[in-house]
Amino acid sequence: MTENRPIQQLGAEVLRQQAAPVDDFNTREFHELIENMRSAMLAANGVGIAAPQLGESKRVVIVASRPTARYPLAPEMAPVIMINPSFDVVDTMMVKDWEGCLSVPGVRALVPRYRAVAVEFCDESGLPRRLTLADFPARVFQHEFDHLQGLVYLDRVETNRDIISETEFFKRLAGQELAV
Ligand code: ZN
Repeated sequence: MTENRPIQQLGAEVLRQQAAPVDDFNTREFHELIENMRSAMLAANGVGIAAPQLGESKRVVIVASRPTARYPLAPEMAPVIMINPSFDVVDTMMVKDWEGCLSVPGVRALVPRYRAVAVEFCDESGLPRRLTLADFPARVFQHEFDHLQGLVYLDRVETNRDIISETEFFKRLAGQELAV
């Protein structure tokens, strides 16, 4: 078991850096980083995580949509570890929906994202893979990819009126006014 590393919070310099590609898939540090990301994400009820959130400016993300306390209505998918990801837009339609971030606690906001993307990445062993994602998993991927570019989801919000507190978010969710 690895001890959970603290999740970097908005304002930390590492969240504003362009992350570096992974070039060696055989180091112990690399595999420890993935394990740390997995356990930090699970412990925090996240549906995705990016290495900079653990203070490592590396191009590694996990996309793991599933229903959690933070996202009760998220669809279930097998978690995917993506190293050095890049993507093409499959559906140029932009959809606005709610997002939150483990690095920005207490807040949710409506964020426009492409509805579907085709992602190219390497798996943990360095093998190239391709995966098409649509709807919520596509949103999670685009959110995590932004972390590798030094962006956070608040950078993409169209108006401050689309930002709400998490308390208000869950109140609306209970009232069925929101779909996540
Ligand atoms: Zn995030």
